[in-house]
Amino acid sequence: MTGLGPSMQLINEEKEFNSDVLDFFNKHTNSRDVGMDYHVISVFGSQSSGKSTLLNAVFGTKFDTMNAKEKRQQTTKGIWLGHTKEVAVTSNKKEPIKDLFVLDVEGSDGAERGEDQDFERKAALFAIAVSEILIVNMWEQQVGLYQGNNMALLKTVFEVNLSLFGHRSDHKVLLLFVIRDHVGVTPLTSLQETLEAELQEIWAGLTKPEGCEDKTLADFFDLKFTALAHKVLQPDAFMENVGTLGSRFANESDPHVSYFKPAYHHNLPIDGWTMYANNCWNQIETNKDLDLPTQQILVAKFKTEEIAQQSFGAFLENYPNEAFSSDQKQELVDTLQELKSECLREYDTYASRYAKPVYIETKKGLASNIEAKCKETISKFFAGTIEALVAAFERDLLERTKPTSFVTKLETARCDAIEKFQSFVSDFLRLELVSSLKDEEETFLAVLDQACTVQSQKQLKTIITRSGKEISNGIKEDIIVLLTHPDKNLWDHVMDSFNTIISRTTQRFGLEDNIFDFQVGLSQAENEKVYKQIRSGAWASLHEIVNDCLTEDNVVSILRERFENKFRFDENDSPRLWKNEEEIDTAYRVAKEHALEVIGVLSLASTANHTEIIPDVPVKVPHGLDDEVDLQGEFEDEEGVYHQKSFAHILTASQREKILRNFKRQSNTTVIEAKRSIIRTTSH
Ligand code: GDP
Ligand code: MG
Repeated sequence: MTGLGPSMQLINEEKEFNSDVLDFFNKHTNSRDVGMDYHVISVFGSQSSGKSTLLNAVFGTKFDTMNAKEKRQQTTKGIWLGHTKEVAVTSNKKEPIKDLFVLDVEGSDGAERGEDQDFERKAALFAIAVSEILIVNMWEQQVGLYQGNNMALLKTVFEVNLSLFGHRSDHKVLLLFVIRDHVGVTPLTSLQETLEAELQEIWAGLTKPEGCEDKTLADFFDLKFTALAHKVLQPDAFMENVGTLGSRFANESDPHVSYFKPAYHHNLPIDGWTMYANNCWNQIETNKDLDLPTQQILVAKFKTEEIAQQSFGAFLENYPNEAFSSDQKQELVDTLQELKSECLREYDTYASRYAKPVYIETKKGLASNIEAKCKETISKFFAGTIEALVAAFERDLLERTKPTSFVTKLETARCDAIEKFQSFVSDFLRLELVSSLKDEEETFLAVLDQACTVQSQKQLKTIITRSGKEISNGIKEDIIVLLTHPDKNLWDHVMDSFNTIISRTTQRFGLEDNIFDFQVGLSQAENEKVYKQIRSGAWASLHEIVNDCLTEDNVVSILRERFENKFRFDENDSPRLWKNEEEIDTAYRVAKEHALEVIGVLSLASTANHTEIIPDVPVKVPHGLDDEVDLQGEFEDEEGVYHQKSFAHILTASQREKILRNFKRQSNTTVIEAKRSIIRTTSH
């Protein structure tokens, strides 16, 4: 293939498409971002009809022309591509224009025709498929001579074009007839009429595909006509005509002058056009059914994908590797937002030029790739944030010193944490950096709930421990006095006092009437369990204190005190003065009986109507209070649970015997001392 000189062979004699074409474009546009600001035109007509000469004169291109003197075929067959940025507007003046790419079709000489008609037909089809304006170049003498000129070829071109674009009415091609060696005897208008009539005749004779029966030539083609003087015989007039022709390519802003119209453009950026042209040629060359709009969609798909990949590549390159901590939310949001919009901006810049539905579809794919990448980072960020928010929640709970209930504090702190979390979430959702953070939300709520449970348990444990201590202190304060000064109704008094202490304490902690949930937010069943646990602890304390208090020695002392009080003091609490032994013996009997009245109540805890006292809950020993609070399982385990019945049994029979022995010994001593005092008094 020929190199990238002033013109290049786009399609060679072997009917191959030149893959260097994009380099040619880039070289000739100095890699400017031409976008869709360019035009493609082509020229069509029989051999040696002066096509290349015309293009070179109007556009300053450098296509090969046949040497007039040598009269031999010098030009190389194929479709040639040239570029220009200026056009001749008079014989010696040029004007700048948009990048213009010109296709020059070099067929074979009339003499060599035959099998090469195939190439000419294909070249014409190609030219009409890829260009905005098709210049039909012909000698004046050819006008009206249907056979033997390119009108026959036009018929084929019309037919195929109809099958290609039959269902499209938005794309048109301008057929610009340039009549050469116009002598001037026949005016252009009548030449034009002849040609138009000829074209209509061709159109009428076409086999039209289904749905196109009523389509007119004007539905697909605009027609323009111009004539040029003989180049050799009337060189000045020729150059003047060239300038007139050129000016109609130059004044694009004036629709009355300019040949160009938006409806002719293929609306593909230059690289997309290249691919489109290549596809068209392959389709034409391999004689596949041609569907050019489909070709355009394919091109759009390929190109938008390519652009999306490029911009996503740049996105990934700039993507931050480091993780973002929970206090870097704004930084993360800004970074991702910036990267995302930069990526989409880049995509839009290059891809928006392609077929809109394809451009939009590919953009969706790109956006979802961006989101997937952002989601990774955002998820990591949220993992850290959830931890930080829950830790802050726990601190917050401790710092709340207002005298409201624990449940209120807990709920307020919980709501605050959720609010903070939601504000984080909404930042990411609002900017559409991710479409959903449902999983993160669920995780957060689960972790927060877990933390709430832990805090409630802690609080509950504190309450149970404190109330246990308070109850134990209450028992020591109120019940030891009762035990050491017993009467027959001792246990009725003890139980009254015991229940008073418990309800006083539970009231103080807000733990009465099954309203623990007010404090820690428990369910009804949990409430009952905790209440049972506190009672159990209270019973254990009572049991311990009773047993500590009613030891053998202590019981002996209690009995002795009762005995002494009765024996030594009379009804008026005055110390007795003994007169005789008989008096002592009587007092002894009464006092002893009085003392021993309580041995029964001190040995077995039972009410005045002889009902043995049995705790209303299982009692754990040694201390039910210090154990873990476990609301899930039972709080009493196999060992260490007293049979409730054992509570009442304080002194065993042998203990009682021992106590009685000691008591008798001591009371006897008292009696003997009393008798001695009489002897002393009487002997004086
Ligand atoms: P192409 O094969 O259509 O590209 O024709 P060329 O541009 O190579 O020209 C073929 C021959 O026609 C050359 O010898 C030219 O000098 C000659 N030629 C070019 N323009 C004109 C013209 O306007 N009138 C006449 N009579 N000959 C021309
Ligand atoms: Mg030529």
